[in-house]
Amino acid sequence: MGTKIPEAQNRLFKNMFVCQKCGNKMRSDPQKILKGKVKCRKCDKSQFRILKKK
Ligand SMILES: [Zn+2]
Repeated sequence: MGTKIPEAQNRLFKNMFVCQKCGNKMRSDPQKILKGKVKCRKCDKSQFRILKKK
């Protein structure tokens, strides 16, 4: 791959969450996630974990 740009990657993965039920990825406001206000579009659950690179 080309040059690594940690800042850009950080921005990419920031606010990205993965549904714990079906693995659907979505971007959202962490505050909303914490408050359970965000629902997965696929399975309608509101349990998410932070998306990590590995
Ligand atoms: Zn889901």
